[in-house]
Amino acid sequence: MTEPVHIVGAGLAGSEAAWQIARAGVPVVIHEMRPAVATFAHRTSDCAEMVCSNSFRSDDDVMNAVGQLHWEMRAADGLIMAMAERHRLPAGGALAVDRDAFSASVTAALRAEPLVSFAPGEITGLPADGHWIIATGPLTSDALGRAIAAETGAEALAFFDAIAPIVHADTIDMDIAWRQSRYDKGETEEERTAYINCPMDRTQYDAFIDALLAAEKTEFHEGETAGYFDGCLPIEVMAERGRETLRFGPMKPVGLTNAHRPEEKPYAVVQLRRDNALGTLYNIVGFQTKMKYGAQTDVFKSIPGLQSARFARLGGIHRNTFLNSPTLLDERMRLRSRPHLRFAGQITGVEGYVESAAMGLLAGRMAAAEALGRDLGPPPGTTSMGALVHHITGGAEAKTFQPMNVNFGLFPPIEARAGRRGRKDRYPAYTERAKTDFSQWLAG
Ligand SMILES: Cc1cc2nc3c(=O)[nH]c(=O)nc-3n(C[C@H](O)[C@H](O)[C@H](O)COP(=O)(O)OP(=O)(O)OC[C@H]3O[C@@H](n4cnc5c(N)ncnc54)[C@H](O)[C@@H]3O)c2cc1C
Repeated sequence: MTEPVHIVGAGLAGSEAAWQIARAGVPVVIHEMRPAVATFAHRTSDCAEMVCSNSFRSDDDVMNAVGQLHWEMRAADGLIMAMAERHRLPAGGALAVDRDAFSASVTAALRAEPLVSFAPGEITGLPADGHWIIATGPLTSDALGRAIAAETGAEALAFFDAIAPIVHADTIDMDIAWRQSRYDKGETEEERTAYINCPMDRTQYDAFIDALLAAEKTEFHEGETAGYFDGCLPIEVMAERGRETLRFGPMKPVGLTNAHRPEEKPYAVVQLRRDNALGTLYNIVGFQTKMKYGAQTDVFKSIPGLQSARFARLGGIHRNTFLNSPTLLDERMRLRSRPHLRFAGQITGVEGYVESAAMGLLAGRMAAAEALGRDLGPPPGTTSMGALVHHITGGAEAKTFQPMNVNFGLFPPIEARAGRRGRKDRYPAYTERAKTDFSQWLAG
């Protein structure tokens, strides 16, 4: 008899992982703490509960990276996608579902699977041996969170994500912005030009502060503590403390010379820092925020140089337990220091229902292969699933690592064919390549 794989957490990731493992013919034991131990966001004791919106976002597998991820999960016989399809609600191009019916059928499918068994209860420490997948999500219980922090080092496990917006580099107007590190610091030319800078004059700065103060903000959920205030104030809170606070904080103009107008001293500067090894994504330094998404887009596009920016993700601050995966996990999603422990879902530093379920799918397949004495590597980085797992386990900057949605900025750039320009041509080329490469990976 093959040794079972144990899964901690029956959320989006854990449920998908369990399904994949059972389908591979390997027994699986699910350890879920609800309902005995509650979280502030879950309402039921069902598997794969959607705690907030009921949407799996775009289902367009030609023009959208998350739609492409749906396609890959369907191709891999994913339970989450199958049940989402069964309980689909009309929502234009998005895949929205009847959340209660969806979770109930994921639960029923797992309970009906002969190789799946349930061992209810909270897991409070890291198991010493066996095959394990830890998929305890953004609201990992305190006891397990402490055990993970003890193993990884406290600084490698975050309890909040303070996300600054991330911009596609090719949408920054470099006729206005310029590349320079503050005081030209750095040993190499690459380091001396590591940041992209957007200048503001006094009028632009004043208008920006007014817009920040007036913008609509989201509130914390009940039960979410506001311990974030120590290290990472939202920019709107800084602006509330005084109109000049940002100019002496993340927007300080010192040590920078506008390459386009060297004679003009900027009144304030917004800096963007590289966010991935490919150099396709940049985050706005120090710009974590609780502004609503619509307001963020308006306010950030008023920054000179970002008027046409497209955002790979917008900013936020949430309760979220996640690992510094680029330093802690190998490419098979195993903890480097204890390879019998695999992580999956939002705790690995992906963001969102679909991305979490996709990481569950992958971890499940890899764990099942291992239990059967085989080895399975990740899909190529040209696929949505591969791009995401490569990002979290190596492609992302470890120092500034924050949870990530899937997006085309994570894909290796595609060779432009004659006449191929803009997104309208590039995106179908990305998804066409992804489908071919994912199918090959599955077949292999
Ligand atoms: C308040 C809030 C709102 C969100 N809104 C959205 C949204 O609108 N859209 C979106 O895409 N994403 C949203 N997210 C992110 C969302 O949580 C994830 O996308 C998704 O649920 C992550 O899947 P997961 O399987 O990693 O974690 P989860 O789905 O949270 O599953 C983890 C499971 O592990 C269990 N568990 C935790 N600790 C233990 C333990 N020690 N022992 C046993 N079981 C344990 C939990 O009870 C839970 O069932 C939100 C998150 C939060 C906190």
